Amino acid sequence: MFLTITTAGSAGRPATDLGFLLHKHPEKAQTFSTSYGTAHVLYPEASARRCTAALLLEVDPVALVKRGRGRGRGGAADSALAQYVNDRPYAASSLLAVALSAVFRTALQGQCAARPELAVQPLPLRIEVPALPARGGAEMVRRLFEPLGWMVEAEPVPLDEQFPAWGDSRYVRLALDGEARLADALRQLYVLLPVLDGAKHYWVAADEVDKLLRAGEGWLENHPEQKIIVGRYLARRGALTRQALERLELARLAEADDSEAEELDNAVDEFDEFDEFDESDQADESAEDTDAEDKPVPLAVQRRDAILSALRESGAGRVLDLGCGPGHLISVLLKNPQFTEVVGVDVSMRALQMASRRLRLERMGERQASRIKLLQGALTYTDSRLRGYDAAVLSEVIEHVDPPRLTALEYAVFGAARPATVIVTTPNVEYNVRWESLPAGQVRHADHRFEWNREEFRTWAESVAAQHGYTAELRPVGPDDPEVGPPTQLALFRIANTTKEAVA
Ligand code: SAH
Repeated sequence: MFLTITTAGSAGRPATDLGFLLHKHPEKAQTFSTSYGTAHVLYPEASARRCTAALLLEVDPVALVKRGRGRGRGGAADSALAQYVNDRPYAASSLLAVALSAVFRTALQGQCAARPELAVQPLPLRIEVPALPARGGAEMVRRLFEPLGWMVEAEPVPLDEQFPAWGDSRYVRLALDGEARLADALRQLYVLLPVLDGAKHYWVAADEVDKLLRAGEGWLENHPEQKIIVGRYLARRGALTRQALERLELARLAEADDSEAEELDNAVDEFDEFDEFDESDQADESAEDTDAEDKPVPLAVQRRDAILSALRESGAGRVLDLGCGPGHLISVLLKNPQFTEVVGVDVSMRALQMASRRLRLERMGERQASRIKLLQGALTYTDSRLRGYDAAVLSEVIEHVDPPRLTALEYAVFGAARPATVIVTTPNVEYNVRWESLPAGQVRHADHRFEWNREEFRTWAESVAAQHGYTAELRPVGPDDPEVGPPTQLALFRIANTTKEAVA
């Protein structure tokens, strides 16, 4: 069983600081004996630029059986042999999580006596697990890690590379990339490795609820897959699961009250990161400014105006800004008293922190602040928090979603959240020839998974509307070029009357 944690250094912070955080010296290979075998910690790479710590667990199958806890998968007593012939030597099961907590206990608690300032700092991290048993496959891996802000690579491992027809095994090769405090990353792995494994190799005792809540503090309270995580972690022990879910709900409510200020404080400290985001914003708008003579108003501003007038027409009071990014539209909406509640949702914590800073949430009066909510969430999953709103905006978001995941987003928005009005904007790829700065054949942003022409967007909008009981009206945004159309296309969806009645 094998797991690596890699960080990159920066000016004033050598990557080898990782050693301080883990309380394991980068120049030593160390061995620890744990209840289920021997754990090794070593650093395959340790330079100021890059540092990788590896945790290798050699499971002792005899110890496991002797402890009476070596239940096989898929049934308690698969066969006598299952105790000895199984995947434990290499798959990162729940045993690895146990080793992780034993070997990196202090790091997991977020303590670092030698360098306390390091422990509270988010670091660029890459975590790799070459063989992760994943009940629910790569899809489940994404559902668990993406809402936490990780960029997830989850590749199914084929059963046998020689025989592709045999299909995939139940293992994935996992790589997570992101910025996080090391303690948070470790606590997430500590919980989610056994959740993915689905077979706890030790009995679930009552104090597991406490362990789970302690490890889940700060990220499990609002996780969209909280039920799956808690249910699987507690091995579906109904009473414990209910107890844990209740306590999480309480923790979430309490957290909203008091720790918000603290979080915002931290957000301000991370000033440098925000600038990066702001720069790309500006780049966006200046690219749009290239033919400034005939359109002095930046396209981003025209887009927000178009969205604003569509929202005004709809009469919506409570609005979702889905994929809100750093919150430009939210600040426009707040100036307008028609909008009594505006909820920004984004998968990126960094974007939400920027939004919070842009809106000066922390300095806002209570009444004004009560009109805004910022939620972290992945739009490709149904989310009960998004039900019951009048309108939803998806401004320049769908093109960031992998085409195979788009149906899931459509269902989550039009099927489950189901506001009366939905406004979607996306680039019109035909217009790209008019951007002087854009080399032919390129998309406008590196992260765009696709850019549609007018025909493609219309077809998509009409099909989504028909499937979910909406009507779709298409509108141009920006100068409507006679040949290639407008730079941005907007679709205004309204829930169809018949469905509204059927629902009512
Ligand atoms: N709506 C803003 C930002 C658009 S950029 C505007 O018009 O300016 C796209 C945003 O969508 C990013 O902030 C990105 O983090 C977010 N996003 C992309 N995929 C997402 C998903 N699956 N769930 C939630 N947010 C997502």
